[in-house]
Amino acid sequence: MDFGLSGRVALVAAASRGIGYAAARELAREGARVFLCSRDEARAAEAARRISDETGAECVGLRADVTSDEDAARFVGEAHDRTGRVDVCVTNAGGSPATTFETTELEQYRRAFELNALSAVRLARLVVPLMRGRGWGRIINVTSISVKQPIDGLLLSNTVRAGLTGWAKTLSTELAPEGITVNNVAPGWTLTERQDEVAEARGRAEGKTKGEMIAGWASQVPMRRLAGAEEIAAAIAFLASERASYVTGVTLQVDGGWVRGLF
Ligand code: NAD
Repeated sequence: MDFGLSGRVALVAAASRGIGYAAARELAREGARVFLCSRDEARAAEAARRISDETGAECVGLRADVTSDEDAARFVGEAHDRTGRVDVCVTNAGGSPATTFETTELEQYRRAFELNALSAVRLARLVVPLMRGRGWGRIINVTSISVKQPIDGLLLSNTVRAGLTGWAKTLSTELAPEGITVNNVAPGWTLTERQDEVAEARGRAEGKTKGEMIAGWASQVPMRRLAGAEEIAAAIAFLASERASYVTGVTLQVDGGWVRGLF
């Protein structure tokens, strides 16, 4: 299937590793000109260089913290200045800490809202005017299966990402007449560098090996394995594509069947 992404300019936030990196690489493979960011300039540049080397596509890595207005504006501005367009924007960020109601301070809710909701809103406010001018655009938010089935112990993700999902649905309706789609990709357990670190740390605390921790998570998934980041990236690339032209306002879970609900 030709995704029709050749020559399109795609921004991928928080992409020096993990799902963001895999998304940037997949879009580059499809021929998009990719601009990625992360908080560390050297890591962003190194990630972009690896993607360029592997795919032959243009890929530029910039330093930007998605919780900063100034950084986000610089990120989008630089991509637009260099290319004159922004067609695709993948909003992504790090995850919020695992907490329960008892262990969560009010300030942590504020930080989680900033990291996992406002970061996407901020980028959309910057890219939508640029997409409007061309009558075509794709916004894809990386969220979590917690929006379809809240996960025990992830109170902040369960709370904040549900809000973002409501926002994205509203935005999708407002932008639908203008050729701009807004969708979410909701990953299930995905074996990124972060999950690898979490498995190591939680395993130490519970007296288990990393492998036992990962096997325990996998046993909760009907497919009996975790996702690879490239499997999340494939869904992101599809939603970014020309072929997804009539898909908007949806949350596409990529979870090996973990969510037990019908929708
Ligand atoms: P990761 O930690 O492997 O990668 C996160 C990336 O974001 C890194 O490149 C990091 O440098 C960058 N980053 C973090 N905070 C940033 C900021 N403020 N500004 C700019 N860049 C920033 O994480 P991942 O596993 O790829 O997860 C990505 C997102 O998907 C997270 O929000 C996570 O909660 C969510 N998610 C992950 C899983 C999973 O199993 N891995 C499942 C559901 C949801």
